[in-house]
Amino acid sequence: MARVEIVGTAHAAAVDAGLALAMAERARLVARMRKSEMRYRMLADYSQDLVLRVRADGKRLYVSPSAKEVMGWEPDELLGLELNVVHPDDRAMRQQVMDRVVASGQPGTATYRVLHKDGHYVWVESVARLIPSVDGDGTMDIILAARDVSLRVAAEQALHKSQLELEKQARVDSLTGLANRRQFDERLALAVARSQRPGLPVALLYLDIDHFKQINDSHGHGIGDQVLQVFAERLVGCVRAGDLAARLGGDEFVVLVEDAQLPQAAEAIARKLVATMGDEIVVDDIRVRATTSIGIAYCPFQTSVPTLTAAADAALYGAKHAGRHTWQLVTVEGPQKQ
Ligand code: GH3
Ligand code: MG
Repeated sequence: MARVEIVGTAHAAAVDAGLALAMAERARLVARMRKSEMRYRMLADYSQDLVLRVRADGKRLYVSPSAKEVMGWEPDELLGLELNVVHPDDRAMRQQVMDRVVASGQPGTATYRVLHKDGHYVWVESVARLIPSVDGDGTMDIILAARDVSLRVAAEQALHKSQLELEKQARVDSLTGLANRRQFDERLALAVARSQRPGLPVALLYLDIDHFKQINDSHGHGIGDQVLQVFAERLVGCVRAGDLAARLGGDEFVVLVEDAQLPQAAEAIARKLVATMGDEIVVDDIRVRATTSIGIAYCPFQTSVPTLTAAADAALYGAKHAGRHTWQLVTVEGPQKQ
């Protein structure tokens, strides 16, 4: 009996010692984590970047004081779940990045807008990475380090806008505001590609002002330019929004019609153009007439750019030789459609 007690006491002592060791180890670990937590907090507290600790469910556990500087909010106002400060248009993208960080364990970067307390949005670039949860329960929190990149984003947007503007200018005729040859070439190539499909005829109208040199010679290049502008305005007035009106250069213009079901539809446009351009133009009290000759290439079949443009050229030549201020039509031959 006594032996048993002795053994029992020895066992209890061993258990106690083991427990004490384990507890001491845990206390050491907790102390270490606290220390590293304090160090990280100190860094975060003094960082100019915005630092957030977020639980996997999105609850903000820590927000650095720089929130005030970057977003106008006191850190306490941002703690918890309630206030979603991410711009509604950026939420899905940001969530995707966060999900990827959680799934892969790899850091992820996102640039998005957050609401400033004033009501405007601030662009931030944030890096998200996983760290073990403060609870020490094996779950992971997310550390977000974000910085204000509003100036950079504004500069990028301005650059993008000016690039778009340059691209637009490269495709527009500066004198008349119509599409230029480059834009016409692109659209024509597309129209010809579409013509490979049945039921999509293409009509191309080449316009050339009659005796335009005489207008320049008699009234000067400046008046000639204004006449070209009026001609372009009238041209736009005669075609539908889906048609492309372009200035190829000099006194040469073109209309591309992609849905003229019959040659008669293309001829109707030409008739209207010839009649409209017959009206007198008054610029700087000078009265001039800038009539036009038109060559129409009509193609109900699959065709190619050179075939179509050669046909329009030939038709225009025919209209000039027929006495000008008129139109001629050339139908491009091809395989009959089903
Ligand atoms: P046609 O009836 O045979 O077409 O005779 P035309 O005198 O119009 O002859 P053509 O079409 O060959 O002449 C076009 C003229 O357009 C020649 C050029 O001096 C003039 N021109 C070309 N570009 C411009 C421009 O930007 N502004 C002005 N004012 N004139 C231009
Ligand atoms: Mg001409």
